[in-house]
Amino acid sequence: MLVNDLFAESWLTESKDSAPDLDQLLGKLCELVIVKQKKNPKHYGYVAAAVIDPDGHVVASTSLKHQGHWVHAERAAIEAYKRKYGHLPDNCTIVTTLSPCSERMDDRYGESCEDLLDDYGITDIYCGYQDPTQDSGYTVTSNEKIKELCKAFADTFLGDQQLDELSFLGSPCTKDCSGHRAGYDWSARKGNITGNSPYSPSFNNGANLRAAGK
Ligand SMILES: [Zn+2]
Repeated sequence: MLVNDLFAESWLTESKDSAPDLDQLLGKLCELVIVKQKKNPKHYGYVAAAVIDPDGHVVASTSLKHQGHWVHAERAAIEAYKRKYGHLPDNCTIVTTLSPCSERMDDRYGESCEDLLDDYGITDIYCGYQDPTQDSGYTVTSNEKIKELCKAFADTFLGDQQLDELSFLGSPCTKDCSGHRAGYDWSARKGNITGNSPYSPSFNNGANLRAAGK
């Protein structure tokens, strides 16, 4: 049962604030992606999304792998919300680290997120980063640090045919972002220290980005 599986993995938070700060929420969603990524190092390209209802309740989820298909974060968050509160009321807001997909994707569970949100009448959509291959104009955060982080997440799966070069938090990667990412994670574990590897400049770059507060 999809909904039960989603509920088990989704992240719930209840807030009675009538208007949660959207950038603060995006920051939490970024943390959610990072935690998920660390638990599943072979699956890059996680997205996290949250539903905010008119009363300020927030239900969030990352994208999830379900029986060989990806349940995108927007769908996962909506399903988790419905499981918790019964039905999705009008005038909900969706906050997501990456703009909703609109293309056909064979490995995606269900319709595109653009169609899904349209079906639920959700027009209030706030993104950390807009997929540059889309022309739909979603509202994107003006917080550069969050945008950069969301772009880094997105770059790991948008594919190099769509992007001129891979980059990790703005630092170009030669092949993939694994060296940068490993250095970044290592620095975080060590209390945000700079890189000191004699073998891997990208490891050091990643660590230095973390140390610089990126
Ligand atoms: Zn999607």
